[in-house]
Amino acid sequence: MGKLRTVKGMNDVLPGEIERWHRLEGVFRERVERYGFREIRTPIVEHTELFERGIGEATDIVEKEMYTFTDKAGEGKKGKRLTLRPEGTASCVRAYLEHNLQGQEPVTKWYYLGPMYRRERPAKGRYRQFYQAGCEIYGDPGPYVDAELIDMLVGFLTDLGVQDVQVLINSLGHGATRARYRAALLDYLRPRAQGLSSDSQRRLERNPLRVLDSKAPQDQEVAANAPRILDFLSAEDAAHFDALRSALDALHTPYEVDAHLVRGLDYYTRTLFEIRGRGGDLGAQNALCGGGRYDDMIAQLGGKATPAIGFALGIERLLLAMEPAVAVARLDAFLAAQRPEDRSDLLVLARTLREAGLHVETDLRGNSLKSQLRRADKSGARFAAVLGENERANGTVMLTNLMQRNAERQEVLQADLARVLRR
Ligand code: AMP
Repeated sequence: MGKLRTVKGMNDVLPGEIERWHRLEGVFRERVERYGFREIRTPIVEHTELFERGIGEATDIVEKEMYTFTDKAGEGKKGKRLTLRPEGTASCVRAYLEHNLQGQEPVTKWYYLGPMYRRERPAKGRYRQFYQAGCEIYGDPGPYVDAELIDMLVGFLTDLGVQDVQVLINSLGHGATRARYRAALLDYLRPRAQGLSSDSQRRLERNPLRVLDSKAPQDQEVAANAPRILDFLSAEDAAHFDALRSALDALHTPYEVDAHLVRGLDYYTRTLFEIRGRGGDLGAQNALCGGGRYDDMIAQLGGKATPAIGFALGIERLLLAMEPAVAVARLDAFLAAQRPEDRSDLLVLARTLREAGLHVETDLRGNSLKSQLRRADKSGARFAAVLGENERANGTVMLTNLMQRNAERQEVLQADLARVLRR
């Protein structure tokens, strides 16, 4: 058998890399909690039907990217179809309905962080297991909350040192607007179908909007002169979009209107946005974050009609765009035992220091003092502390400052050690 490896498109995150993940996650939590969002954790596996109904059958995700399997059936029963979640929004709506939160809070604000699964072609910035952080708001029809959400994201990216981001917004309208636009778009696309990519030709009748954000050059050429949805907005849709723009102006949040922004999911209504990065190591996968309103989904999944908006950002892509280095907490001390039999006392001392909040490392394998001190040097610890027969008798350790060349060893009372290390 060959060497064991991770599944294609799925990655390990090792110490050394994980520090940047922690920083990103910490900054995200801190920022969104300041805006009143609270965390929700949902299972990684859901009933397949949730995504089919929630995301829409004519999307890339549901058509070809989901990891779906049939669960083992109980005696005399049929196994259930289950899917590894490809995104977070549908699961959040399911939880919102399942726990009857509709009647309990006028506005619900949630955030989540976790892995998602899509069987896409792996590339830099595109994986089959990837992590998203996202927010969802239920019960506010906008547009002010839409502006606040976009502005919060820009603030978060600034916190992380991501520079030069581009905020694109569009409105997809609602109900009758969508139907009128769809008809006009089909009228435009049908006579040009021969010139479209095979994916777009196949999807044309079911999901003509997708042609607009296709990456295929022949589709982009056709899309360039397609009718613009913004010209079809109803008076209410247009007022919503105008108020969103005014609110973003008031916040001095830079944005651009992109009338061809549609994004891959079926569920969006009215406000739609995407944040793209321009710098760093991003390359072609430069969409950092996507989001929008999905005012119809809750009713479609069986709830009382409730307006909703949300976004998801791709953590791996953000890591490519954010500042490179994050400082790792430095070890305060490396404790070494002079003789193997001093190790129990070493354990007790190390625990006392750690309980006091210090970062302490030891080598408990019973190696020579010399080899322990070599490890202490390499560890980057600020101090080495040696515990031997005499020190045990005196209740002390021999302390060396590893940050000073030719530093004198100094005998320090164990009871004083935490204080001295903290200085
Ligand atoms: P979506 O859920 O498709 O709206 O995507 C939201 C964000 O998730 C995107 O802007 C990306 O940053 C990220 N993302 C989506 N798919 C992948 C993937 N296969 N690999 C890595 N990141 C992804």
